[in-house]
Amino acid sequence: MTADEVPAYAEGTGLAHATWARALRDGVLLGQECSDCEHVLGTPKSVCPACSGRSLVTVRLPTSGEVFSETTIEVTPEGLDDRYQVAVVDLGPTRLLARVADEVEIGDPVVFDGFVQYEDLPGPRFVAEPTG
Ligand SMILES: [Zn+2]
Repeated sequence: MTADEVPAYAEGTGLAHATWARALRDGVLLGQECSDCEHVLGTPKSVCPACSGRSLVTVRLPTSGEVFSETTIEVTPEGLDDRYQVAVVDLGPTRLLARVADEVEIGDPVVFDGFVQYEDLPGPRFVAEPTG
């Protein structure tokens, strides 16, 4: 599997959330691309929100992007850190809500860095892109 290949277990159409989560745990960021309008989704859906098409092909998403918006969660659910930052990351073809591990600001470059787990659900984590 090269850097832009989809794992065999996720190939094709109809990406299930469990498969998306499995890939995330494997360090692979998957999305879907609509065969009808080329809209790209960062999390699994059964219908294209842009054209209502149902032919959503699993694709591998870019692993770097920039912070589109961010906020810090001060009042957190039980079992999570007291304070953490989340960001909408602009990956180019799509945007994705993710946890960010470093203090980041809008426009900062970030890279995919695995996942955070809450209850049984993993979510993507990004870190500030190393400089220099
Ligand atoms: Zn579409």
